[in-house]
Amino acid sequence: MRCAVRLVIERALDCCGCPCHGTTHKARLLARGVRGSAGVGCARGGESDADDARGAEMAGYDDAKRRRERSGREYAFEVATSVLRFGRGVSREVGLDVQELGAKRVLLVTDRNIASLSKVHQPVLASLRKHVPQATLSVYDGVRVEPTESSVLHAVAHAIEFKPDVIIAQGGGSVLDTAKIANLYSSLEFSGALESRHCSVPAEGSTLPHFLDYVNAPIGRGLPIPRHVHLAPLIAMPTTAGTGSETTGTAIFEHDALSAKTGISSRLLRPTLAIVDPLSLETVPIGVGAAAGMDVLCHALESYTARPYYERAAPSAPNVRPAYQGANPVSDVWALQTLKMLRESFGSREKLGDPRHQEQLALAASYAGVGFGNAGVHVPHGLSYSVGTAASRGLSVYQADGYVSTCASDGNGNGNGNGDGKSGKVLVPHGVSVAVVAPAVFRVTAHADPLRHAEAFEALTGESLPSAQRADGAYVGARLAEAVLDIMRALQLPLSLGDVGITSREIPAMLDATLLQRRVLDLAPSSPSAPPADHSPSATERDLLSHILHDALTA
Ligand SMILES: [Zn+2]
Repeated sequence: MRCAVRLVIERALDCCGCPCHGTTHKARLLARGVRGSAGVGCARGGESDADDARGAEMAGYDDAKRRRERSGREYAFEVATSVLRFGRGVSREVGLDVQELGAKRVLLVTDRNIASLSKVHQPVLASLRKHVPQATLSVYDGVRVEPTESSVLHAVAHAIEFKPDVIIAQGGGSVLDTAKIANLYSSLEFSGALESRHCSVPAEGSTLPHFLDYVNAPIGRGLPIPRHVHLAPLIAMPTTAGTGSETTGTAIFEHDALSAKTGISSRLLRPTLAIVDPLSLETVPIGVGAAAGMDVLCHALESYTARPYYERAAPSAPNVRPAYQGANPVSDVWALQTLKMLRESFGSREKLGDPRHQEQLALAASYAGVGFGNAGVHVPHGLSYSVGTAASRGLSVYQADGYVSTCASDGNGNGNGNGDGKSGKVLVPHGVSVAVVAPAVFRVTAHADPLRHAEAFEALTGESLPSAQRADGAYVGARLAEAVLDIMRALQLPLSLGDVGITSREIPAMLDATLLQRRVLDLAPSSPSAPPADHSPSATERDLLSHILHDALTA
């Protein structure tokens, strides 16, 4: 069986070539793409069996679904999201929510920068003091930006010691993800699940005996969280319009020993309530908002162009159906709407400072979260996880705009290092690390599913592509890549890996780290006639990813 990325490789190499295979990608795009050829092997491009798969999508992907049902493929998808409350000043209500939950011990997870921003943090504290004065409050402000295994375990230890019955997370994605993990492992500890488990993969440097049980494979074991474990209610209060973590069941961190990003994905991690207050965004520096906004954009583009859910193998039971299921008719609605919202309120630095557009961006981030939280993301996120490490290894001097120090906060821009022994590491904000590889990815993945990429381009730009060329992967991929680059230029963000100080010397190590990201790589778009993905990294897959990274070195 071939993996999804490998299928894309074969099409990309057929269609466009790469530095390893003769004619350059860009030259062949010019030679072939703009003339409207559908391209060799671009199975979803035109009048192929792909059309019946995608043509049926607004009716529920029915034809494709029936075919897969007969062949043991996935036939269902599931939609889950947090309760979302949105409005200016809504942070003031959190005390009432905690009161309703009957909480006696409240853990507020944040970072030092947010804790120092009175306009953002004080309304939450005031609301808690007013509505639940009898509750014991503990403020944990030690969250590290781009969390590591060590930093999340520090938060876990605090949660285990404090024994909260409600957790509030106020901050950027790093804060929300850390709070999810602290909630999971403290709940496992309280339920006795940690002691009773048997695990053959010891946690490297971990203080928890079975930390990797629930971490995504292949770094962890990827086990489902036991149903009898009841997590504490988690209230997520994002302070950036970016990760959408307030609506998803995913938490990302860096594995210390491998210096590779991994995470935990489970619907049970999803916050009970997301409180999104656009007033919290008004203190965000423009550079931070721009980076976070690119994350929103990539969530929408990737979830819409991900391989569809019915191309996975059917799960053995509903509770092992992954949170990242692949594109589906419901996630499509949220992704496309996100792109339309971004068209209006994103793409210029002036808009990032305008409260009206900030509010729209905050909503777009949550919309994208609902979409990709149920569909997943693919190759841009898979590659992005190695960007920061590569920049550090390459002695980059890149300094992220709006971020103050090497341990800068993703919340509102100031440093918040927590003594994790990694000071001096170059911070490439998550949104930037995804965006600098995304154009090169879409130039390739568009060959596997041109119509889908064309629809995403049109939603983002409002421009209709010529009907004769909507099925041309080379043409569509180039147009979508350029649309993303246009936004990055307008926001004065880095455009390429080279712009954050990465050279070709770093690519082999980046590939090693990326090939561990099976959960997202397997969502790369592929032919509807292809077999389901297996989990064996192949030389061919490495070739394609290498091609993409070389292409991403320059804009
Ligand atoms: Zn992201």
